[in-house]
Amino acid sequence: MPELPEVETTRRGVAGRVVGRRIVGLQVYDSRLRWPVPADLGSRLLGYTVDALERRSKYLLFSVGAGALLVHLGMTGSLRVYTQPPPRVLHDHVDLVFDDDTVLRYHDPRRFGAMLWAPFPVTAHPLLQWLGPEPFDPAFDGDYLWRATRSRTAAIKLALMDSRLVVGIGNIYANEALFRAGIRPATPARQLSRPRLHRLVTQVRDVLSEAIAKGGSTLRDYVDAAGEPGYFQLNYYVYALTGELCRVCGSVIRQMRLGARSSFYCARCQRP
Ligand SMILES: [Zn+2]
Repeated sequence: MPELPEVETTRRGVAGRVVGRRIVGLQVYDSRLRWPVPADLGSRLLGYTVDALERRSKYLLFSVGAGALLVHLGMTGSLRVYTQPPPRVLHDHVDLVFDDDTVLRYHDPRRFGAMLWAPFPVTAHPLLQWLGPEPFDPAFDGDYLWRATRSRTAAIKLALMDSRLVVGIGNIYANEALFRAGIRPATPARQLSRPRLHRLVTQVRDVLSEAIAKGGSTLRDYVDAAGEPGYFQLNYYVYALTGELCRVCGSVIRQMRLGARSSFYCARCQRP
């Protein structure tokens, strides 16, 4: 599943080719995404220039005319830019054509992604209005996390993954950031001290930054490339390493379920 680093890398890979270009065509081959692609999307886009491509949480926002084309990659979605589009293949659902014949193509085998219209101000859109701060937003700091978790009996890992509290921290990065911060995933959020939460915020940013930096080496894969864009494998400390030995202390990595997701941790390196 594309997480925030993959979405940010998609944004960087696509922006340079479409921002400032005018949209001259829209072909929706299959509108049955997570929500139907609106039938009037063409009237919002055609003839307008893409003024910006921004990201909010895992949503890509193409500013066009009076609003934004909102794209979510769901479980298996990807965007590619083609100067000479190859013939469509199975699961290519939408083409956006620009005035220099560039084609932006949306591909999504499982069709859990979304392509919707969000009028300005986009922050009022139902999918965006309850979102908490971005992990790199200065408003997301240890003090904020401390205040926001005082009444939370839920585990810190579930709090980190709650998009009303902070967006874009998926299962992989929550596990890795908690390891690096020395905090066990099941620890009730409200038990954590301010200094430990400050450390956690730092580690969340570090682990996401490292993944985005890895993504930078794949940027060319978004233009005129064949095959699927890759996902960036960090050298994980705990994620999906159940039964292996901790790289720091040599203890066995354990696994437990929290919410619906698997959590991985080292009982020696991570304290409750
Ligand atoms: Zn360890």
